[in-house]
Amino acid sequence: MSQAQWPEWLPLRQSLSPLSPYGAPQVDADASLNTNENPFPLSPSLVAAISAKVGEVAASLNRYPDRDAVALRGALAQYINKQSATDFDDRNIWAANGSNEIIQSLFLAFGEGCALGFIPSYSMHPLIARVTSTPWIDGSRRDDFSLNIESAVEEVLRERPGLTFITSPNNPTGEAISLSSIEKLAAATPGLLVVDEAYAEFSDIESAVTLIKKFPHVVVIRTMSKAFSFAGARVGYLVAHTAVIDAMKLVRLPYHLSSLTQSAALVALDFQDELLSGVAQLRQQREFVASALREMGLDVLPSQANFLLFTGFSSPSADLWQAMLDRGILIRDVGLSGYLRTTIGTGAENEKFLDALRECLAKERS
Ligand SMILES: *Cc1c(COP(=O)(O)O)cnc(C)c1O
Repeated sequence: MSQAQWPEWLPLRQSLSPLSPYGAPQVDADASLNTNENPFPLSPSLVAAISAKVGEVAASLNRYPDRDAVALRGALAQYINKQSATDFDDRNIWAANGSNEIIQSLFLAFGEGCALGFIPSYSMHPLIARVTSTPWIDGSRRDDFSLNIESAVEEVLRERPGLTFITSPNNPTGEAISLSSIEKLAAATPGLLVVDEAYAEFSDIESAVTLIKKFPHVVVIRTMSKAFSFAGARVGYLVAHTAVIDAMKLVRLPYHLSSLTQSAALVALDFQDELLSGVAQLRQQREFVASALREMGLDVLPSQANFLLFTGFSSPSADLWQAMLDRGILIRDVGLSGYLRTTIGTGAENEKFLDALRECLAKERS
């Protein structure tokens, strides 16, 4: 629906009427490499463990879930402590239905001033700002989309946002920001510095959770959607100072995280070693696909995530995107002219992707 089509009687907020709903196309394809999902399904033993647990929990679905998801938050704290040698506990973690809900809660609680993020980045940050009536400021990047931390610091000092967003590794570019750069930005940021680390497990760069002790206004968003192959379960979380977590409780809906979700996520955390071995495979595949793309004469942005942004083809992005879909390969047109993004799939999917792309480029160049 576009602006003109909303019926007059509908008392829709004015700020929403020009918007269209978020949506990467969900279409059938031989290889779906468009939403940075993990291509590996859960192992049969993990599926069995989740099924057994859900069976148990089903017996008490007449009761509301633990409103504060304490067991899950404790387990997430232990996971982060193991990954980053920190000493968080459940009071430093908030959990919700995907990190998108975490982002929404941050805006609801802290969006009184304006918010700033460095574009291009995750498109949901400005979109959720809009929905929560938080003024959004587009911060800038270099022409190659890398983040210039000095100019980022200047922008933050000039605009004084209540919420500053930084995505590391960044979506859609894949760039990870060094801890020392994030520290520079944290030192200048007046409100909260929100570091969206949806792809942290795919990166070599140390997590910003290690900065929270020194900078209590640094808050880190993580998700089980990507590294943990858990996109369908919807579990995202926030790592932060206890005061930030206490504020999340003011804006969350009561019983927001179902008993089924909480228990399934706990089981998945028990299988973290198995799940993280899949991440290691994807990191290897990323390097393989990146060099194959470079061999085709394309430019690939350095990526620490489970996707690659590439350029150097001559057709418009939308045409190459369609030509790939015609060959059964669904990738992402992220709205950057001359660029396309592909998610790292299984070895077989990546081969299909590379074959289809070789075909398209040969046609383009003939
Ligand atoms: C995928 C993604 C998310 C959303 O994750 P959910 O936990 O599935 O809501 C958040 N931030 C970034 C940068 C992402 O790419």
